[in-house]
Amino acid sequence: MEPLIQLKNIRVKFPVKRGFASMIAGQEKKVVHAVNGINLEIGKSEIMALVGESGSGKTTLGKVITVLHPKDAVAGEIVFLGESLWDEKGKLKSGYHQEVCMIFQDPYQSLNPKHKIEKIVSEPLVVNKISKSKAVLRVRVIQALEDAGLVPAVDFLDRYPHELSGGQRQRVVVASALVMSPKLIVADEPVSMLDVSIRSEILKLLLKLRDEKGISCLFITHDISLAWAISDKIGVMYLGTMLEYGDTESVIQNPQNPYTRALIDIMPKMRVRKNEKRMLLKGETPNPIELPEGCVFHPRCPLAMACCKATKPPSRDVGNGHINVCHLLE
Ligand code: SF4
Repeated sequence: MEPLIQLKNIRVKFPVKRGFASMIAGQEKKVVHAVNGINLEIGKSEIMALVGESGSGKTTLGKVITVLHPKDAVAGEIVFLGESLWDEKGKLKSGYHQEVCMIFQDPYQSLNPKHKIEKIVSEPLVVNKISKSKAVLRVRVIQALEDAGLVPAVDFLDRYPHELSGGQRQRVVVASALVMSPKLIVADEPVSMLDVSIRSEILKLLLKLRDEKGISCLFITHDISLAWAISDKIGVMYLGTMLEYGDTESVIQNPQNPYTRALIDIMPKMRVRKNEKRMLLKGETPNPIELPEGCVFHPRCPLAMACCKATKPPSRDVGNGHINVCHLLE
């Protein structure tokens, strides 16, 4: 599949703010290692899911793609449509903010309660100086609302967010992205605040946008069953590291990494390895300020060996681009 965006060895570090007492005591500045050397590629008309527990770095990576982090916190290279995102002078590729949009999990907080839907959806066009013409803005807003499944769109223009259901609000959030005619939507837990009955509607909408408009999506979720339902490709992240990566069916039907297996095993309906013992996770994700030596997952891995504590595991292609980062089967 032709790549839309490629991330090469992306690293993100944030300094931890020191309190007055620690400054006086001369304590060292600490750093959060949020993302540690991630490589990934999203194709045109492709949905990629990033899966992992909170603290895995998946939202940070989404914000790297949408350029929401300060540039000096991010290292590595991003290539969009074959060109580097930044030129030699450090200037962002022009028009990028129109091609890549982010939608967040909470449709209640994403929408200004004082504004009507027409104003909310037209705002990205106004901010990006696409048009000042009211007629042009209205045509684009109506099209975006229809593409987001709010029909007839004219019935929604004069309404306020509180007059809509949770599902309709999330469709307005999607319309606010679609109004820019993006090539990629980064959707951060877009259905986690919605009722189960409405979730499948939003998932179907993202699939429809992929199939009919060719819009790619990075779908960020802690729920591997949702990732399975919607994505073409999955990346499994833990403590800022990609532990497994590949085509969705390959990763779900033949998970290689103990962490992926554990995520699958806590989803009763997803048990694909019926004859194997469940892989149970112990403890909590460690502090990203002090990353474990060796494999970052070793303090919680039920299959950890002595080498896992000392040496970083290799990245291995187990077939057709299905990558596993683990010492097992060396
Ligand atoms: Fe577990 Fe070791 Fe593999 Fe890490 S490298 S996932 S600790 S077996």
